Amino acid sequence: MAGMWNPSLETMPRERLERRQRRKFREQAQYVYENVPLFRDKLDRAGIDPEGIETFDDIRAVPTTTKGELRRAQATEDGDTPYGDLLAVDPAEVREYHRTSGTTGTPLRQAESGRDWEWWSDCWATVLWAQGVRPDDRVFVPFSYGAYVAFWAAHYACERIGAEVVPGGNLSSAERVERIADLEATVIVTTPTYALRLAEAAEREGIDPAATSVERIVCAGEPGASVPGTKAALETRWGASVYDHAGATETGAWGYSCDGDSLGLHFNEARFLVEVVDDDGSPVEPGEEGTLVVTPLDRHAQPYLRFEQRDRVTLEAPDVCDCGRTFRIADGGILGRDDEFITVNGVLLSPTAVEDVVRRTDAVTDEYRVVIDDHDEKELDAVTLLAEAAPQNPTDPESIERTLRRRLKRACGLTFRIRLRDAGVLERPERKANRVHDRRSTDG
Ligand SMILES: [Zn+2]
Repeated sequence: MAGMWNPSLETMPRERLERRQRRKFREQAQYVYENVPLFRDKLDRAGIDPEGIETFDDIRAVPTTTKGELRRAQATEDGDTPYGDLLAVDPAEVREYHRTSGTTGTPLRQAESGRDWEWWSDCWATVLWAQGVRPDDRVFVPFSYGAYVAFWAAHYACERIGAEVVPGGNLSSAERVERIADLEATVIVTTPTYALRLAEAAEREGIDPAATSVERIVCAGEPGASVPGTKAALETRWGASVYDHAGATETGAWGYSCDGDSLGLHFNEARFLVEVVDDDGSPVEPGEEGTLVVTPLDRHAQPYLRFEQRDRVTLEAPDVCDCGRTFRIADGGILGRDDEFITVNGVLLSPTAVEDVVRRTDAVTDEYRVVIDDHDEKELDAVTLLAEAAPQNPTDPESIERTLRRRLKRACGLTFRIRLRDAGVLERPERKANRVHDRRSTDG
C-alpha cells in the first residue's frame, strides 16, 4: 500500500474522529457567526447559538447553504473587495484569488489566505500521497491553470511533498506528449477526458502511451476515474494506475481514492464534515444513495457551513476498504451532479452509467454523445447514443449496435437508439465534457 500523508488523522478511531468533527464544526460556526454577515443572519433566523452546537442533530439544524445564496452575497455593490459579503478576514490577508468554472451560472470568486493555502496543499498532499506520489516523481500537469484552483493546489501539494512538478500550459496536445516522453514524467494530473485525449494524441504521434514512463494518472475535475469502464480504459491505454479525486472551489479537496480494494472515494473526514443526505435532508445509511452537504472545517478567508454540493453518491462504511483508513467512502465515486440526472420516460438517467457502458465496449472509441428528443407517436422520448466505431477493433456495425443497446438497457433501464459514426467525427472536449444533450421542448 502507498501509505498515508497523515496516518494519525487518516486512521483515527471513529469515535475520536466524530468528536473532533463536532468540535471543529462548532468552532467554525462561531467563527463565521462573528465574521460573515450571511451566516450570522442565517443562524440568527434559525435561532441557533453556535456555542450550543454539541451533537450531529444540532449540526443538522444549521440551515444548508446554496450556491445561489453565495452568488447573491457576493453580488453586493458596496464593499471594497471582489468577494462581497463573504470575506471573513481583513482584505490584506487574502493571498490567492480563484473562481469557479462558471459552467452553471455566474462564477463565484473565492479568496484564500495564507492559512487556506497551507490547508489546500495539505488536502491535496493527502490525495497525492495516498496515490503513491513521492519526492522522486516528476509530475506533469497538462494545463494552463488560469483561475481554476484544483491544479494550482495540486501543483503546490507536489512541491510540499517534494516531487518535481512540470506545468504544461500553452502547449498543443502533441507537444505535451513529446514533453512527457522527453522528461520521462512519471505522473500526470489531469481530467479523465483529457487523459483520453492525450492518449489519442500520443498514438497519432506514433508514441505508445503505455510504453512511456507514466506510472500514475491522478484525475480531477469530473467523475471518470471511479467509473469502472473509464478507469479500465485509461489504465490499459496508459499502462498506468489511475486514481480519482473529488473536490470543489467552494469546499476544497474532500475526496480521494486509495490503492486499497474499494473502488470509490474516501471522504477526508479530518478536514471536512461530509454529510450524505436524502431528499428530506436526513442522513442515509451505508448502501444508500444521497447527495452531499460539505463543511470545510478549517477554511479561513471565505468559509462555509453545510454547503449543498449536489453531487450524488452511494455511501459506504470505511470497512469496505482494506487500506486502514477510518474515513467513509463514496462507493463508485461521484455518480453525477444532482442536476445532471435527467428523467427520461420516467427513468432517472445517470450520465456515468452510460459512460461506463461505452468505455467497456471495445468495438467503439471512448468518445460519444447522448441526445434526448421529444416524444414520438408512442408518447416516449427518444434517447439516442452517438458512438464511433473503433478502427482497431473492426466489428459488424449491427452487432455493435445490438451489444450497446443490450448493455445500455441493462445499465440504465432505457431503450436507446444507436447511431454509429466513423472514428474521430465527434468533437473531443478539451477539459471537462458535457456529453448529454437534452433537446426536448420544456413543455414536453
Ligand atoms: Zn481505502
